[in-house]
Amino acid sequence: MDDVPYLCPSCGTNRTRFNLIEQVVRPVKKNPHTGSIQEWINPDDPLHFPYRGEQLRVQCGVCGLIEGEQRFIKAALLGSQLQKDS
Ligand SMILES: [Zn+2]
Repeated sequence: MDDVPYLCPSCGTNRTRFNLIEQVVRPVKKNPHTGSIQEWINPDDPLHFPYRGEQLRVQCGVCGLIEGEQRFIKAALLGSQLQKDS
């Protein structure tokens, strides 16, 4: 995890308290009838669509908002620009 500032885009004040939610991707093959996992698919399997979503989601530790990490990083960047302008 990089050292980048976060700011909650919802409450707009929290820059310090967060829950980091790491996304763990497990490609599986299930039995269509029983639902049991039959196989752990290799992530490089060319027939299997790879997950390209967020690796990290973040929850604000003050208001509880859950969003992708980028939302919090962008909010922090915007917030620091606003402070410079005013
Ligand atoms: Zn918040």
